[in-house]
Amino acid sequence: MNNTGKTIITYNSKETQTLGEKLAADLKAGDVVCLYGDLGAGKTTFVQGLAKGLGVKKRINSPTFIIVRSYRITNSQSRITTFYHIDLYRTQSLEDLKSVGIEEILQEKDAVVVLEWPEKLGKILPEKRIDVKFEYIDENKRELVIKNYE
Ligand code: ADP
Ligand code: MG
Repeated sequence: MNNTGKTIITYNSKETQTLGEKLAADLKAGDVVCLYGDLGAGKTTFVQGLAKGLGVKKRINSPTFIIVRSYRITNSQSRITTFYHIDLYRTQSLEDLKSVGIEEILQEKDAVVVLEWPEKLGKILPEKRIDVKFEYIDENKRELVIKNYE
């Protein structure tokens, strides 16, 4: 995505979804995408577009109480078979993370993994990842910065 490292402003949730959809076009099997930002910053909204771009047919809801939601992808051109949407907001410890199988999920070669609250991973945060930082500017305006760590 040629938006890497750039600051992008969106003025409504549709624009944030469209950015997610655009990022999806550049994702490969095995990619991990980390979304940073406060509650209401637009992370889940971005995931809705990203999932659509990957070919996920189901509606994306916030996984907050479930931690991990997985979606099958059947007709990806890039060997992606599973999309994981993970929200670590309510996790407290490394044990919580281990109990949902996070380490195995992060290693999956045929999946794309998107994480909200990736800070919670601490030492197990993958080095090779794509970071998207969200900032709330005002009611409808958000600032996004996308960085790709190869
Ligand atoms: P998070 O997952 O970061 O807690 P959500 O995506 O669940 O945030 O919520 C963002 C809220 O802000 C939604 O209600 C959305 O409609 C609203 N919103 C308003 N403007 C924007 C924007 N430009 N980008 C994303 N969301 C926006
Ligand atoms: Mg969310």
